[in-house]
Amino acid sequence: MYIKSPEKLDLEQANEIYDKLVSDLNYYNYSYYVKSKSIISDYEYDLLFHYLEDLEKRFPQLIKSYSPTQRLTNQIQTELKKAKHNKPLLSLGNTYSAQDVEEKLEKYEKDYWIENFYIEPKYDGLSIELIYENGYFKQAITRWDGFEWEDVTKNVKTINTLPLKISYKWKLHVRWEVVVRKSIFDKINKKREKEKLEIYSNPRNLASGSLRQLDPMVTKKRQLDVICYEVLNFSDVDYSLDFHHKSLDFLEKNWFWALDFKTLYVLKKRKSLDKEKILEIVNSVDIKKLLDDQDVEFDWLAIKVDEEKYWNVLWNTAHHPKWAFAFKYPAKQISTKLVDVELSVWRTWAITPVAILEPVNIWWVIVKRASLHNFDFIKQKDIRIGDYIFVQRSWEVIPYIVSVIKEKREWELPKIEEPKHCPVCSWETFHLGCEVALKCINVTCPAQVKEKIAYFVSKNWLDIEWLSEKTIEVLLNVWFIKDYADIFTLTNKRQQLLSLPGFKEKKVENILNAIKEKNILKLDIFLQALGIEFIWKKTAKIIVVNLILIKNFKDFLDKNWYVIFKKITDFLSSDEWEDFLLSINGIWPKVVESIKKFFHEKHNKRVVEKLLNYVKIKSAEIKKWKFSWQKFVITGSIEWISRQEIANFIEENGWEFLNQITMETTLLIVGDKPWNSKLKKAKEYDISTYDLLSFLTENNFNFPKKSMKEEGLF
Ligand SMILES: [Zn+2]
Repeated sequence: MYIKSPEKLDLEQANEIYDKLVSDLNYYNYSYYVKSKSIISDYEYDLLFHYLEDLEKRFPQLIKSYSPTQRLTNQIQTELKKAKHNKPLLSLGNTYSAQDVEEKLEKYEKDYWIENFYIEPKYDGLSIELIYENGYFKQAITRWDGFEWEDVTKNVKTINTLPLKISYKWKLHVRWEVVVRKSIFDKINKKREKEKLEIYSNPRNLASGSLRQLDPMVTKKRQLDVICYEVLNFSDVDYSLDFHHKSLDFLEKNWFWALDFKTLYVLKKRKSLDKEKILEIVNSVDIKKLLDDQDVEFDWLAIKVDEEKYWNVLWNTAHHPKWAFAFKYPAKQISTKLVDVELSVWRTWAITPVAILEPVNIWWVIVKRASLHNFDFIKQKDIRIGDYIFVQRSWEVIPYIVSVIKEKREWELPKIEEPKHCPVCSWETFHLGCEVALKCINVTCPAQVKEKIAYFVSKNWLDIEWLSEKTIEVLLNVWFIKDYADIFTLTNKRQQLLSLPGFKEKKVENILNAIKEKNILKLDIFLQALGIEFIWKKTAKIIVVNLILIKNFKDFLDKNWYVIFKKITDFLSSDEWEDFLLSINGIWPKVVESIKKFFHEKHNKRVVEKLLNYVKIKSAEIKKWKFSWQKFVITGSIEWISRQEIANFIEENGWEFLNQITMETTLLIVGDKPWNSKLKKAKEYDISTYDLLSFLTENNFNFPKKSMKEEGLF
């Protein structure tokens, strides 16, 4: 329809096109900004917009105030004109507890027989009044003392969520809140920080600063949003807006953005709510969380009498309307006293400081403890016992200390020192490399031993399901076991086990049978089961492959595994190993240091040696491997096996998988439909190739059954 260049149109044709074009563009704008739905590409929008600009340039007499080009008129103002509200914009009175909300609602019921209420999120922005006449946006006025403030029409016009034209044809005054999205707030502040400008303290501040600019261009750049929530005045006598929720429906129909519990899917539709429903929403942690997840800041809820006929009956105080009030969610951050610092020891060897606080109520939860993370954190924030601190509770995170209120420190308090010994077993503590976490490495440390044993017998390693954490606890308490090696001594303690409460014949039988069955372990599984930090599946495999293939441990295969392991552990605690392990691709220095620490500890070595009296270690997988240490690249594939599955297989076996051919690549594995460029490059670098299917077969790849693949099971 807009194919003809504006040059070739006469006024009549242009007029015809103009109205449709403006209304189309306004609708696209509304869909995009208010409904968050793109129904036209940005490119197409730009084409239409430029066409409109050209049209208006040729026929300036056509320009309407509601044309999207008029959002930014590039007119810098010398001052913001004063303006008057015809009805005061009052702020809501506040309540800070759910108890207060209940009492207020009960009072409405008792004193006025009011039963219909409404609740909506309250925006933390800047209140303004918008005036529409004959369906067109006319004026925007900020709130000040409730009666008079500044005309910000030009600036507000740049905001994309503002409809310039609405279907309602009479005079309309609505109340909006100008907000800045949290994501945009962060972006702007980050930029200002970089430019060494003062940062805005909160989104409301930024909204206010952006709106009261003399240059509308600045306002436009701030990407503000406007959310409407109240009809202040309307002039059609036939039209009935007798309930507040109906006003919101009416606003939505007129393309205003009303972000409330209906649009957040808490309510299926807008309707009057009873006292119980209001209290349910006020008290719901899920709803608070939902609000926290929004890109707009909500710390408040607005609770209103829904039936507007009561608004005049209840009227206002000097500052607040009496037909509505706001509920503020309890602060997420609150000050309290740090009474003490406790130390906890975890299975991962870490010793972490925990703050013991004077109990405070944060969000209906009494907080007595908070995380202090580590001793670096304490040092950085200069936290001392006896200090007043700000503690914060956020969702799904344990409460933590935000800052120290140093002004409240009346005299010099002692510093919190990092402990030299484990608070539980009094072994010397240490840091692994440059890690901040403080550690206790003792495998028999009482604070860790239960978790260590549970980890050792868990599904991934020994897989003895009959030894639950509870059973382990009982066995530790009666001193039947002291470390994970002792698990195997239980086979000699049948009678003693039967004497324990709750250990019936059947249970004891199951435990002992499982232990007897599980005394053969693969070397890599064994390494992982020890619970050495950073030794996970892939790392363990890589170490084992390299020990056996490169360091010739292969000769010992199927011989006496005690000797082999002794050789390995001796090797690992020798000086020679360190360089060797560090030279392996995929083994990080911190892994090496962790192994070193573990095996250097005589006590740990003793437990491992004790273990080797009971456990046989085998390494069945390695001896079948056709290839030594390689860096593989794959090109092409095999039907019904994904590239990722093959990559995983390669990595699990301790080989390295690369995406691109480089000088380091040692082998190119070629499947069906290989890439020519990769084949060419391999030739260029003199890299040998190998058939993918043969590679997988020869290395015992666990092929999925083809039929299962076809059934969609793979
Ligand atoms: Zn300890």
